[in-house]
Amino acid sequence: MNKIRVRFAPSPTGFLHIGGLRTALYNYLFARKEQGTFILRIEDTDQSRIVPGAIENLITSLHNLGLDFDEGPGKEGDFGPYIQSQRLNLYQEQAQRLLEKGFAYPCFCSSETLTNMRKEQQEKGEFVKYDRRCLALSQSEIRQKMANGEKYVIRLKMPDKHKFRFYDLIRGEVEMDSSQSDDQVLLKSDGFPTYHLAAVVDDHFMQISHIIRGEEWLSSTPKHIYLYECLGWEPPKWVHLPLILNPDRTKLSKRMNDVSVDSYLLKGYLKEAIINFVALLGWHSADERELFTLDELCEVFSLERVNKANAIFDLAKLDWMNGQYL
Ligand code: GLU
Repeated sequence: MNKIRVRFAPSPTGFLHIGGLRTALYNYLFARKEQGTFILRIEDTDQSRIVPGAIENLITSLHNLGLDFDEGPGKEGDFGPYIQSQRLNLYQEQAQRLLEKGFAYPCFCSSETLTNMRKEQQEKGEFVKYDRRCLALSQSEIRQKMANGEKYVIRLKMPDKHKFRFYDLIRGEVEMDSSQSDDQVLLKSDGFPTYHLAAVVDDHFMQISHIIRGEEWLSSTPKHIYLYECLGWEPPKWVHLPLILNPDRTKLSKRMNDVSVDSYLLKGYLKEAIINFVALLGWHSADERELFTLDELCEVFSLERVNKANAIFDLAKLDWMNGQYL
């Protein structure tokens, strides 16, 4: 059996919040239960969105809650570095491979051209996506533009009319149409990858066995599966966690509410109660028990019992659990 290796891969765009903690916790519990490896990877490829202090906050918060990672920044294993901005050459190499194999193409369109394209498509009520005008460029035109120093990005050429089928450990068989996928930018003109390329390259080279992440990434999975195919790599297993909703069924957002883990600790909630509460936000034990220590969770957790339905964030429950631990 292959070794279990999972990762929590936050972008340092804010402090650790309840949604992020739930993803981190399920990855952690699964790794511990299966004697696997829990990895922290910092996805900082969108440099404009980095919040100062966020990386330190993520690491400290995980540590304070008892969720220590086995590999990650400051704990270099065999697969580091674990901060994406320190791995740029790896992504550039793979983007180049995709170009050479004809799975990707350079796009010289300016942001102004793209804005106009989007506007026109919206006005016509069309699906907004890149219209592939740069795909029509000849090799000599491309060489000429590059020699002139024109800026370009590298886009993935998504297959037309392709049905992507994959198995998600929570949702079962999933089918998605490629017509819903844009020709994703893989490498930006500044040499930084986008999330999609970086995540796939890292998950491959870090030998990740299961991708456990929030459901908001489900729609990106066809692009990722296609990238694995183009690069000739074996994809990992997919696990998309249902959303966490506010009691009014709006999405629990790190921007909307004050849901940072720190704010709960500051309000005096015990870490044991927070962990227990978050564990049950989308998972249940076979006997529907409500109170667990972290060690007990490590013993009983299983992905099979992650709920298919969205979880509702019920503060009264956290208050009750906190009372049990006081
Ligand atoms: N960097 C992504 C995030 O911020 C991670 C998505 C994934 O796990 O693939 O949620």
